[in-house]
Amino acid sequence: MFKNKSIKKALIILLFLLYIGNLFAAGKKEEYSPDSAPESRSELLLGTVCKITIYDNPTDIAFDAAFKRIIEIEQQMSLTIADSNLSQLNKNAGIVETTVPAETFEVIKESIEIAGLSGGAFDPSIGPIVSAWGIGTDNARVPSQDEILQLLPLVNYRDITLNTKSSTVFLNNNGMILDLGGIAKGYAADEVREELLNQGVRSAIINLGGNILTVGTKSDGSLWKIGIQDPAEDRGAYVMILSIKDTAVVTSGPYERFFTVGDTSYHHIIDTKTGYPVKSDLESISIISGNSFVADALSTAVYSLGLEAGMKLIEKMDSIEAVAMTYNHEIILSSGFLSGKIQYELTDKDFSIITLEKYLVDQ
Ligand code: ADP
Ligand code: MG
Repeated sequence: MFKNKSIKKALIILLFLLYIGNLFAAGKKEEYSPDSAPESRSELLLGTVCKITIYDNPTDIAFDAAFKRIIEIEQQMSLTIADSNLSQLNKNAGIVETTVPAETFEVIKESIEIAGLSGGAFDPSIGPIVSAWGIGTDNARVPSQDEILQLLPLVNYRDITLNTKSSTVFLNNNGMILDLGGIAKGYAADEVREELLNQGVRSAIINLGGNILTVGTKSDGSLWKIGIQDPAEDRGAYVMILSIKDTAVVTSGPYERFFTVGDTSYHHIIDTKTGYPVKSDLESISIISGNSFVADALSTAVYSLGLEAGMKLIEKMDSIEAVAMTYNHEIILSSGFLSGKIQYELTDKDFSIITLEKYLVDQ
């Protein structure tokens, strides 16, 4: 009896020690450890693969917080979630104003600003046309010219009425659809960065469907090397390598999402004047900026505007740079590259860097 009791006691002590040990082990996992191996987590959100890699202090808490934030944003701004704030707003088009969360309001407001800056080439009210084409869905099709002509008058960012005081949005006309697909991933990346910083992370790469946002520097203090994709090659074939820190690189082009009918391919960036996929002289455009929100909207806007007008818009804006690529393997860089503000290396010798002036003369 006594013997049994002492075994029991020893067992209880052992279990207690194991429990304490576990607590310490769990605690240790969340400690700051700059030399720990990087860890990545990927989830399908915002209609794309969202991948976060933490280099200096990868903890489950940090990953969970980051993905929770993306889910919150998706719940607000997704078109495919039937009861998202954006879907509710679209359902109320032409009927009644809708109260939206502050951050949805902010993203709509910013998208209207970029619409103004781009002379309407970027327009968040492109929704009815995007939905008619169904690009990126199982229902992709070429709408009839009549259908497009009927829908085009619904595309006009000036018909979005914002009321800052009440955080309400009204879409003036029945049938209007706001589509934040050209900007929401950029916003989400900035918010993920905030969340990671709050969790003590100082070195990470956020990649939301190709929208790259680097947080801090690499853990050894050196710059991140970010490749600019060769649009004609498989993913991972780079034309240029940028060396950056705390910077977003967002690329738009016709090669990411498209469908083909016969010999014609139709991509997902729509010309707001014609209702057809934009015929741009750009094969791809990458925007480089401290802020992913603006970079995302501008990548879509500049692609739509085309090389000349697009690069002129970039030059007018502070702290925003761009890498433009043509179908002739020419690369046109914004002035910040030429003045040495951004370090880069051309790694594919089939491409050549030319000035905007030379490009325009050659046309
Ligand atoms: P991706 O979403 O592939 O990264 P973009 O950032 O360029 O590419 O955004 C394209 C998305 O923006 C489209 O899928 C659509 O939802 C929306 N969109 C398409 N054309 C326009 C336009 N002219 N203005 C604003 N948004 C657009
Ligand atoms: Mg974009």
